Amino acid sequence: MNYNKKSVTDIDVSGKKILLRCDFNVPLDKESGAITDEGRITASLPTITYLLDNGAAVIVCSHLGRPDGEWKPKLSLKVVADRLSGLLGKPVIMAEDVAGEDARQRAATLRAGEILMLENLRFHKEEEKNDPSFARALADMADIYVDDAFGTAHRAHASTEGVSRYLPAVSGFLIAKELRYIGGALQNPKRPFIAILGGSKVSDKLGVIINLLSKVDALLIGGGMAFTFIKACGGSIGKSLCEEDKLDYALDVLEKAKKQGVRILLPVDAVAAAAFSNDAEAVIVDSTAIPDNMLGLDIGPETSRAFADEIRNAATVIWNGPMGVFEMPKFAEGTSVVAYALADSGAISIVGGGDSAAAIRKFGLEDKVTHVSTGGGATLEFMEGIELPGIACLLDK
Ligand code: AMP
Repeated sequence: MNYNKKSVTDIDVSGKKILLRCDFNVPLDKESGAITDEGRITASLPTITYLLDNGAAVIVCSHLGRPDGEWKPKLSLKVVADRLSGLLGKPVIMAEDVAGEDARQRAATLRAGEILMLENLRFHKEEEKNDPSFARALADMADIYVDDAFGTAHRAHASTEGVSRYLPAVSGFLIAKELRYIGGALQNPKRPFIAILGGSKVSDKLGVIINLLSKVDALLIGGGMAFTFIKACGGSIGKSLCEEDKLDYALDVLEKAKKQGVRILLPVDAVAAAAFSNDAEAVIVDSTAIPDNMLGLDIGPETSRAFADEIRNAATVIWNGPMGVFEMPKFAEGTSVVAYALADSGAISIVGGGDSAAAIRKFGLEDKVTHVSTGGGATLEFMEGIELPGIACLLDK
């Protein structure tokens, strides 16, 4: 996978019509349909502003929710166009369709410095099918394609990959940042390079573990997934999460790590309770001797200290997955210690999407780390070293 891709700053956008793929899949209030978190819209402002300020006419497209190829007025992007207009302080013209008569006419008359929003891409089933004529219809409205929707970059859809067959394709600032930091860490990391993996299941992160093993100096494993490793090594884990069918895999990983000279740190202690509940009494136990009636719900204090020390001494850190059930205050300490250690470290600190991004936000530390990935599934696939179609299709530098 080549991470060295052209971005908007590598091309001349002046006087050009840009088809800009954003991720405006914002959460909506079920009752009122109002946007409940505008984070994805504000995240795209730097790219939109750059294009408008540099003399481009911008045609924005996105999906919203899961209309599954049907025209569902409740999932119209009009609500996003209005919010974007407020944030930009200028009108955002709303097309009545996606690539139909209205959109085409409005795109044709769009002038430099103006912005047009197309309707929800997934109102057409052709979008997710990567239908060539639908991609062509989108592309025909513009001169250049800019992709800033990292969250859908692992999908080969008409608006994420198909259009690149008809238009020169480059990244916006959001994807450029994913490439610089996650791509940079995978390709040419500053060392020591460590990865901290957590979350519930080993099975979700098999590919990530294997890919990172060949790159990192140390792998720190916490969260529910650590217990499969601990059991595989002969530990007693009580009622903790365990994937019995992954015990051999865990041993295999430990063996490979040894051969490759990669240190693997597993929790030495755990915060355990008799029930999966914030009301249950929490006790600190040896992670290899968890009482039969208990389950481990967080890493213990000694493990937290060891993980924080590793982070302090690292030059690059990738973190994906919480260290415990951080949604419950009693079991959030391990995740909090890791988040603060990352925020305090001088390392290039990269937080994978999904729950670890939610955790870093929960602790208010988003601006204290180098990069919080905007993807969920896309971030995991990226970390697995899989070629993402929405990135592979961009022009090489
Ligand atoms: P994932 O989606 O695989 O990244 O996992 C995130 C989820 O893992 C969060 O909702 C956590 O509550 C959960 N989790 C983390 N540690 C544990 C644990 N020790 N036992 C059960 N669930 C856990």
